[in-house]
Amino acid sequence: MKYKIKESEDQSRAMLNILEDVELEKTKAENLADDLQKFKLAVDNASDQIVITDPEGIVLYGNKAVESITGYKPGEALGKKAGTLWKVPMPNDYYKNLWDVIKEKKETFISEIQNKRKNGDLYTAIISISSVLNKEGEIIYFVAIERDITKEKEVDKAKTEFVSLASHQLRTPLSAINWYTEMLLSGDAGDLNEEQRNYLNEVYDGNKRMVDLVNDLLNVSRLDMGTFKIEPKPISVLDLLDSVLSEMKSLIIKKELVVNKSASKNIKEFNADEKLLRMIYQNLISNALKYTPTKGEIDIKLENKKSGTKVDSKILTEDILLLTVSDSGMGIPKNQQDKIFSKLFRADNAKESETEGTGLGLYVIKSILEKTGGDIWFKSKEGKGTTFYVAMPEDGMKAK
Ligand code: ADP
Repeated sequence: MKYKIKESEDQSRAMLNILEDVELEKTKAENLADDLQKFKLAVDNASDQIVITDPEGIVLYGNKAVESITGYKPGEALGKKAGTLWKVPMPNDYYKNLWDVIKEKKETFISEIQNKRKNGDLYTAIISISSVLNKEGEIIYFVAIERDITKEKEVDKAKTEFVSLASHQLRTPLSAINWYTEMLLSGDAGDLNEEQRNYLNEVYDGNKRMVDLVNDLLNVSRLDMGTFKIEPKPISVLDLLDSVLSEMKSLIIKKELVVNKSASKNIKEFNADEKLLRMIYQNLISNALKYTPTKGEIDIKLENKKSGTKVDSKILTEDILLLTVSDSGMGIPKNQQDKIFSKLFRADNAKESETEGTGLGLYVIKSILEKTGGDIWFKSKEGKGTTFYVAMPEDGMKAK
């Protein structure tokens, strides 16, 4: 009898344990479901468009932003290749590169892209596509996140147009000031005493700086708006280099700088838009002169380089015309080197040195090179000097 009681006690304890386990599992499952629900709600309602596809790019899920951004209901996209409903055809290279990045390299693809809403309006988006891998490292999904940046783009465009208009309008009065100051200085309105001449020289220099700034701003806004025409013609790069250097002769003499120029023998005529190439040479060389102290040294080299050759730490992927400008100047501080091509950026040592500058020159050079198929990079050591490399495809600038 006693034995029977013990047995049933054991049984009921075991039963209780099982019930407790079941209860625990139930709570766990409920918590998991709760978490999943939270994730789903967050993804469903995110303001960016989120689309999940299978490894072939077929849409398995789209959140609500699909409709607010593209105008198509998420359901309309299901089962179709991602983007087919709203994409604007891009060159084949674009898709080849996209698949290469996400499928072969399994990295995130980020790009600005033009799409078309259901009502036919075009919009600009930043798209970021990442692969989701299983434990074996195989792709099981792709996640594409798109942000509509059309409004930001419009604001940017309006700002650029304003700068363009304002600088254009400023040119006429500035030219008049320049013109009349020159006339006064040359004695057209009678002799000047020394004090008057000094004051007028200040006006003349200040005005010249303003003209340079306004021209820089105008160039930047034209480049940003894409209204710059690129009209390549065969030109002599050596003559262009000489002409730029002769414009800077007085500064070279004033600072007692040693400027060495060399060019490989095989330099031929080069297909370039002279106005744009002049801007590149002027900005780069004037920086070298400006940021190098008195009696410093500047080396300027023009060479043709073959694909596969190493220049600095770069291996060339095509035949190029290379301009190298090396100086023994103040250098660029290491912690600011990544910002050097940003609009209006000037490094701390440049600002402290009381050199004049707008922080627009390198931005202009980089924009021109991006639009004409070239490249620019540099190496620099603070207090020792800087070397800039400008590479342009040997067959010249691309027309636009
Ligand atoms: P800036 O009008 O100020 O010269 P840039 O866009 O031409 O504008 O150059 C941006 C900044 O890069 C400069 O302010 C300076 O800090 C740095 N920089 C450019 N070239 C050199 C150089 N040769 N040596 C040292 N610093 C340089």
